[in-house]
Amino acid sequence: MTEIPDPLSPEALAGLVATALVRHGAGDAQAAAVGRTVAAAERDGAESHGLFRLPGYVASLRSGKVDGAADPELTSPAPAVLAVDARLGFAPLALELGIPALVERARETGIAALAVRNCFHFAALWPEVEAIAERGLVGLAMTAATPMVAPAGGAKPFFGTNPLAFAFPRADGSVMAFDQASAAMARGDIMIAARDGAAVPEGVGIDPQGRPTTDPAAILAGAQLPFGGYKGASIALMIELLAGAVAGDLFSIEAGAVDNGDGGPPRGGELVIALDPDRFGHGTAWRGGSEAFLEQLLAIEGTRLPGSRRNVRRAQALTQGITLSPVNRAALTDLLA
Ligand code: NDP
Repeated sequence: MTEIPDPLSPEALAGLVATALVRHGAGDAQAAAVGRTVAAAERDGAESHGLFRLPGYVASLRSGKVDGAADPELTSPAPAVLAVDARLGFAPLALELGIPALVERARETGIAALAVRNCFHFAALWPEVEAIAERGLVGLAMTAATPMVAPAGGAKPFFGTNPLAFAFPRADGSVMAFDQASAAMARGDIMIAARDGAAVPEGVGIDPQGRPTTDPAAILAGAQLPFGGYKGASIALMIELLAGAVAGDLFSIEAGAVDNGDGGPPRGGELVIALDPDRFGHGTAWRGGSEAFLEQLLAIEGTRLPGSRRNVRRAQALTQGITLSPVNRAALTDLLA
């Protein structure tokens, strides 16, 4: 039996996740990239995208939906556009291939976009936008999913939970990042509430008859709602068009139609945009300006920057290690057996 230390380092956790995936049919490179993504989520306290997702990753290998040995391919269809064909593998390895190339290209052109297609996406988006901002550029990323969210005025799932992530480089080398679903609540959090028998706040979703409810199971059977009514719905709509039509992959309704229901990640593309602020014709003035702006924001009582909760959890995990929840420990033990 594989021993799981308590606590354990993010690197050790990434290695164990990769081992579990290899045992269920993944190739080393795909497994290692998913391992890093899952471990980063656990490290940052992003529960809905950490080990909670591992059984789904494994299910998609077992069902043959995902090619766990896929070798993604990078091309450049236009001077400021890159594309990674994930060849029906998981998203993390495709992103690890595409992001450094995207940053390099955006440094040349000022702005560049990366389309990742033919991939299966189950992860948070902050890792890729943070990787851009850690290199001194601004990052934006978005992906669609399967139909879960009702459009404004409708009562039927149509949009994915379609997250949008943004990261901005700070003067001290750190990063300010937000990453949010366009649904009022991420599906993973509703699933966790259903698993734990907890209610969710009002406004998160409707039951199959279209009635507002706080019962997570009824919402999973009915539809989620976008955040902010029609405003969140318009962001979800934009993401369908950019990560689906423009990136060259499926809309959420198409991904839902082809999914085999194995509980693993849905098929879907991701669009990532990088901007080099140094190339916008006003030197490096943006650095001081943005810092002064953020300082004024933080001077308002009660405020914090997005990502700061994750950063605190990350700092704790890096000094004290990660303590797995009993349910995650049991799931990982099971998948390593
Ligand atoms: P949250 O609502 O938990 O948080 C959204 C963002 O708001 C975070 O960046 C968070 O920072 C920030 N934030 C929260 N509270 C405050 C505050 N008081 N002041 C300033 N900023 C704040 O995220 P969601 O539930 O919407 O999404 C969770 C994850 O689910 C995302 O990572 C997303 O990528 C992922 N997802 C992935 C999908 C996929 O198909 N791959 C689909 C849908 C979602 P902090 O983290 O520091 O709290």
